Amino acid sequence: MRLVIVGAGFAGMYAALSAARLREIQGVSPEQLEIALVAPEPTLVVRPRLYERKPETLTAPLLDVLEAIDVSYVQGIAETVDTKSSMVKIATVKGTKKTLSYDRLVVTTGSRLFRPNIPGLAKHGFSVDSLEDAITLDKHLHGLAKRPARNGRDTVVVAGGGFTGIEAATEMPARLREILGTSARPRVIIVERNTSIAPDMGAGPRPIIEEALGKLGVEARLGAGVASLDKSGVTLSSGEHIETETVIWAAGIRAAPLTTQIPAERDSFGRLLVDRCLQVTGVQGVFAAGDAARAACDDEGNYALMSCQHATRMGAFAGNNAAAELLGLATRPYHQKTYVTCLDLGEAGALFTRGWERNVEMVGDVAKKTKREINTVWIYPPRAERAAALASADPERVTDL
Ligand SMILES: Cc1cc2nc3c(=O)[nH]c(=O)nc-3n(C[C@H](O)[C@H](O)[C@H](O)COP(=O)(O)OP(=O)(O)OC[C@H]3O[C@@H](n4cnc5c(N)ncnc54)[C@H](O)[C@@H]3O)c2cc1C
Repeated sequence: MRLVIVGAGFAGMYAALSAARLREIQGVSPEQLEIALVAPEPTLVVRPRLYERKPETLTAPLLDVLEAIDVSYVQGIAETVDTKSSMVKIATVKGTKKTLSYDRLVVTTGSRLFRPNIPGLAKHGFSVDSLEDAITLDKHLHGLAKRPARNGRDTVVVAGGGFTGIEAATEMPARLREILGTSARPRVIIVERNTSIAPDMGAGPRPIIEEALGKLGVEARLGAGVASLDKSGVTLSSGEHIETETVIWAAGIRAAPLTTQIPAERDSFGRLLVDRCLQVTGVQGVFAAGDAARAACDDEGNYALMSCQHATRMGAFAGNNAAAELLGLATRPYHQKTYVTCLDLGEAGALFTRGWERNVEMVGDVAKKTKREINTVWIYPPRAERAAALASADPERVTDL
């Protein structure tokens, strides 16, 4: 029997750990139940940190952990999935193709930035969405130091005032000063279509975010969108033109394209609709988790967001359930009661909220300490030691904050 997991992000990592954990508990050998993980690289890209300096360092190796738990790694990109014949076609890095049959499949292919068809965006826009994009932005920022300080060189425009936009924007003043020298006067502007900053955060935490932006001198243009980009800068829907060499697009993500290969319903983000045990609705033998799935967290109408917090726990349930079906065991309904947010606010600290209504629990340096711990310890893979790694993947305990 073979369980195939596609994607080595937060959901895929925990799907592999959790499936291997159940296999071990049941005393089943890797020969009887093979668990294979397909991904272009055997590394975890620590996406939540990609707005930071030195983005090239923001990955963690996975091969040693996978080896420790007897999960085989298949290098490549899954191009097609045939759910009738239960086959995944994979393009390898060498340019060859191979097929892998599965008895159960877990789709954990995550998400990617959605770039709308705005004139100049593809050519002039930067992002912090993928490792490659973050490295390109970092090289560009370092390149600015060699150019004359005119034509908006020291201005960064961040399109999108949601979580990612705010984290990228609040990090930028310090990053620019580090690169351009302490005498530089960086100007950072967030452009947000909605009439308030952090539209999803709600009224409670917003004053803290606004205060932080004020403290850092980050400006906001609200109720305006990006209309076009060119080499002189960005023009907003309000008609304002901002001179800049750096526009960071942080306005919207979609599920990665592999989800279109599964003959099932998807939401407006491209996420596969799944049942309570994370099986794709109406597709026997296929599970989905993380940013690739739209899953109910509880019976109160809350749905998992595209976040690490949800991806890790969903991954643990999906891996467990896919293995459980193959081992003739009962599956477990995914549930995630606790919901917290921890928003980095650069040199102005951080903001920690609890609950779907986002009650502010910590701000400033105290919240920043928690953010650092989340971003440097909690979201990293467990150490490559079999017992500890397997123990870390009990679905009932993963991301139980
Ligand atoms: C700048 C930034 C800041 C963020 N901040 C936070 C935060 O503070 N808190 C938080 O909870 N979340 C945050 N997020 C969101 C979080 O990173 C995502 O929700 C999380 O990465 C989702 O995990 P995942 O495993 O579903 O997908 P991903 O982490 O996207 O991993 C997907 C994996 O699938 C692989 N893959 C994709 N397609 C294929 C294919 N066809 N074949 C094989 N492999 C494939 C990819 O290579 C990757 O290994 C942030 C994201 C960004 C970009």
